[in-house]
Amino acid sequence: MDTSTRLPALFLSHGSPMLATEDSPAGRFLDGLGARWPRPRALVVASAHFAAPGAALGAAPRPETVHDFGGFPPHLYRIAYPAPGAPALAAEIAGRLEAAGLPPSLRPRQGLDHGVWVPLRRMYPDADIPVVPLSVSPDRDAAWHHALGRALAPLRAEGVLVIGSGGFVHNLGELDWRHREAPLAPWAREFAEWMSQRLDAGDHAALLDWERQAPHARRAHPTTEHLMPLFVAMGAGGDMAATRRLHRSHEFGTLALDAFAFE
Ligand code: ZN
Repeated sequence: MDTSTRLPALFLSHGSPMLATEDSPAGRFLDGLGARWPRPRALVVASAHFAAPGAALGAAPRPETVHDFGGFPPHLYRIAYPAPGAPALAAEIAGRLEAAGLPPSLRPRQGLDHGVWVPLRRMYPDADIPVVPLSVSPDRDAAWHHALGRALAPLRAEGVLVIGSGGFVHNLGELDWRHREAPLAPWAREFAEWMSQRLDAGDHAALLDWERQAPHARRAHPTTEHLMPLFVAMGAGGDMAATRRLHRSHEFGTLALDAFAFE
């Protein structure tokens, strides 16, 4: 493939598991997303819900659909996303990560957590594109995840779509569960604006230092696992990547569902 057919790297916010089925701005956005690019031969998805001490890659030939959430309506627990795995590709990626100084573990029984299958079910409802799940490491910082993504950048010219699945603002403790339409909290808006401006400017240095520089950083992300997929996607976009905003919406006052392409 030449550069004109290189796929982008994407950051997607998966919000609540209800996104799998319900009609919402974020859901409708995902419904149309897969058709924007040539069909990938495989998907590599770094998910906030696959935590490992270092890099880990799912290598199951037929990964199970994991319903790793509680308290949601029964229909969500019956959803299967029967996409095949890609053990050979996972092994090939392991080699690339090893060469980049990020030796990964291969997980032969890793399923697809909801950070993976919720957005994919809407983007690629036929579930016929092989998926390689990739972990995030809550113990590691943005620069580490950026390096992880950078090691994946060559895959984009080989028909592989790299996706980071997390949340642009993700504070569950302060959620307004009763009011899905609640306005985004002022501190969350301020954080999202700061991040958006740095993304527009391609200011990767400031973004990698988000915990110190971004306003309300640890209120927007009391735990960091939902933001780390952004840095994986940013790294996979490459050093010269332009950032394109794909989507902006929010729910319950403290979840921002922004999505970006790095290409
Ligand atoms: Zn999540």
